[in-house]
Amino acid sequence: MKKKLFIPGPVTVSEDVLEKMSTQMIGHRTKDASNLQRSISEKMRKVMYTEEEILLSTSSGTGLMEGAIRSGTKKRAAVFSVGAFGDRWYELAEANNVPADLFQSEMGKPTTPEMVEEALATGKYDLVTITHNETSTGIMNPVKEISDVIKKYPEVLFAMDTVSSLGGVKIPFDEWGVDIGITSTQKCLGLPPGLAIASFSKKAVQRAKEVKHRGYYLDLLKLYDTIQKKDYQYPSTPSLSHMFALDYQLDKILNEEGLENRFNRHQEMADYVRAWAKEHFELFAEEKYASNALTTIKNTKGISVKELNRKLGERGYSISNGYGDLKEKTFRIAHMADTTLDEVKELLNVIEELMEEK
Ligand SMILES: *Cc1c(COP(=O)(O)O)cnc(C)c1O
Repeated sequence: MKKKLFIPGPVTVSEDVLEKMSTQMIGHRTKDASNLQRSISEKMRKVMYTEEEILLSTSSGTGLMEGAIRSGTKKRAAVFSVGAFGDRWYELAEANNVPADLFQSEMGKPTTPEMVEEALATGKYDLVTITHNETSTGIMNPVKEISDVIKKYPEVLFAMDTVSSLGGVKIPFDEWGVDIGITSTQKCLGLPPGLAIASFSKKAVQRAKEVKHRGYYLDLLKLYDTIQKKDYQYPSTPSLSHMFALDYQLDKILNEEGLENRFNRHQEMADYVRAWAKEHFELFAEEKYASNALTTIKNTKGISVKELNRKLGERGYSISNGYGDLKEKTFRIAHMADTTLDEVKELLNVIEELMEEK
């Protein structure tokens, strides 16, 4: 049975966007392919609020995270983590033999500007990773305040994971000095998984040039150089299907709905789910830092999340259990991409009905 997905990626994709995935192929070394990638890049700059270059990778967001920490670290990376996806940066560093230190916050709490200041003041680091929106704990970090600290250290490259929030929340990359801002297609952008997108600043280009072993497929400098030398092409064969669909979806986001409306819709859905969560359970995240793309709810009633989700499945809905150690202790409701407030209300009504059944 088809289920309406309220999980934090992949999201349910609109039929018209899905149709664009089945566009007939074009040669990846043609003018049309260049035009397609250039068009996507111009539109992504608007969504990312950046003038910098846009890199596409036929991988998921993790691919570009791997590329970023490897291509961007010459000395040592400071990895700030507020959950499973923050920890992933550290695992990527270790796996690539990139020197790194992990700075973890207590679960449900954000990365603070003070933590970042303390680490950078040591002078040990030349790359910082921050998770904008942590999909395990439902935390949206105070990145504006963090970015004010990072700006005091011009030798430090700023890499940020915006995988689960870009396209649903305003994230002004250039204003915040983001050098490599990474996202995936299958979350707030509302497409199938399989393509990752990043901004890549001139400072990041310079840094990557100083790093000798950047890998091959995920070498961000190679992606960048190919764009310059071959007029917006990709070093190998990209997922053109995703590119057709992304180009189309970005038009819908920018022109049909409009970014401000889209951000407001995410805010409204988040406000609604949070209010509901507080009425029936508790928020897992400190509310000041609660995410606008998903809500992680503390299972204070000790319900079986697995059983709830099974019953929801019979009714055509799917939510997420807690991530990793938070399984059954929390559950997660995503309110991202093209989901509407009415759909969210419908889901919550069904959850209430199912909870009363017992
Ligand atoms: C989903 C997610 C990732 C991983 O992205 P993939 O596209 O699955 O590789 C990384 N970070 C965050 C915050 C995520 O939500």
